[in-house]
Amino acid sequence: MPRARTHDAITLALAPPTFLMTHALTGSYDLAWLVTLATLFSGLMFNPDLDVRSTPYARWGLLRFLWWPYQVLIRHRSRLSHGLLLGTLVRTLYLALVLVLMGAGGILLWHGIHGRPGSGESMRAVLALLKQTLLSVEKRYWLALFFGLWWGSAAHTLADWAWSLWTQTKRML
Ligand SMILES: [Zn+2]
Repeated sequence: MPRARTHDAITLALAPPTFLMTHALTGSYDLAWLVTLATLFSGLMFNPDLDVRSTPYARWGLLRFLWWPYQVLIRHRSRLSHGLLLGTLVRTLYLALVLVLMGAGGILLWHGIHGRPGSGESMRAVLALLKQTLLSVEKRYWLALFFGLWWGSAAHTLADWAWSLWTQTKRML
């Protein structure tokens, strides 16, 4: 497979055309920035190789542990991580779920430490606030975010495929 440095170079090379294309298509600088930043984030640290101890995994620093269950659950280079659309979908849902669970754990812990009952009410209040915040974001921003996440990871998968094809062809020659 291409090394992390190759994947990084591809991601960085994609950023300017991604920005220009999104701006040309939508006429919006906000959306162009969002798509480009999501592409960079996805290519550099949210890509399919999070399914093993890899460079993108190391880039999460202290938050690396968030990906431990993911690495246990998902076999390296399986469709669940490297699938062209499925990979990003699974990672996005996984990260959202982990963050919600951590938030809930934090609330429980806070109530436990302070010896206060009513953690259920706090949790409901936080969830209501979260829902309200998420719903207040326009749909096109969510689409742009997901598109960028998908694009950065799809470039990774496509590079992996191209690499396999190339090494197989080389062997046959
Ligand atoms: Zn890979």
